[in-house]
Amino acid sequence: MSVKSGRHLPQVRKAVKAFRGLVWTVGESYAEDMGARDEDVKVLPGDPPVTVVLRRSGRARRISLRVSGLDGRVTLSLPPGVSDSSGLAFAQERSDWIRQHLAKRVTQSPVVLGAHLPVLGRPRRVEAGLRAKMSSDCLTVNRARPAGPQVQKLVMDAARDALDEASHRYARAVERKAGRITLRDTRSRWGSCSWQGNLMYSWRLALAPPDVLDYVAAHEVAHLVHMDHSLAFWSVVARLRPDWKVQRDWLRAHGATLHAWRFDD
Ligand SMILES: [Zn+2]
Repeated sequence: MSVKSGRHLPQVRKAVKAFRGLVWTVGESYAEDMGARDEDVKVLPGDPPVTVVLRRSGRARRISLRVSGLDGRVTLSLPPGVSDSSGLAFAQERSDWIRQHLAKRVTQSPVVLGAHLPVLGRPRRVEAGLRAKMSSDCLTVNRARPAGPQVQKLVMDAARDALDEASHRYARAVERKAGRITLRDTRSRWGSCSWQGNLMYSWRLALAPPDVLDYVAAHEVAHLVHMDHSLAFWSVVARLRPDWKVQRDWLRAHGATLHAWRFDD
């Protein structure tokens, strides 16, 4: 049965190469979410054994293998007509590559008193006080309650203000109207734009340099004009943010660090 996966090998090599390092790309997987999905978990034997999430997608055209830089999830996507066993054989052949990437994951940092978080480009120290508020160099939290969730709320408020402002500013520039803007803690993308014009962003963008957050807003608003990643789309992005490549590259290189902060303590 491995003959079947052989047919996909050149594309698969290309996919694997594209995902070397970080798998995070802005909004580029939104089409994927519209297809039907079926997930199953398998374990590749070896030292250490590797847990693989098998995903069947009616839209996938080739086998692809992704290793998440932030939580180590390994996802194997299979197009229709490729059996589980040939997909797993494909992953097994690349298990050394998977283990190398798992070893390179970013270490997690809990948000506790005394921690310094960069919010909207300024390092701010988490300190105890009477009530939660953000100032130019501090994130003050109520000392009677755990710091993490209070800081998360402050970061989300900062993200909300900056992303609302940027989205409406860029929407005016392209003469479109942005729909509802929602914030989430997304794993696989920094933003998305629906066919109805609603925008979704990761609130963790508030932990990135402001130009990076601003670029993601420009990128998603450009989807109000072109719902694809065509040349016409990128020319709209370039008009809104001539330096877009610098910001995109920052996300590719450092995006996983935004997910290293843990707010649950
Ligand atoms: Zn996009």
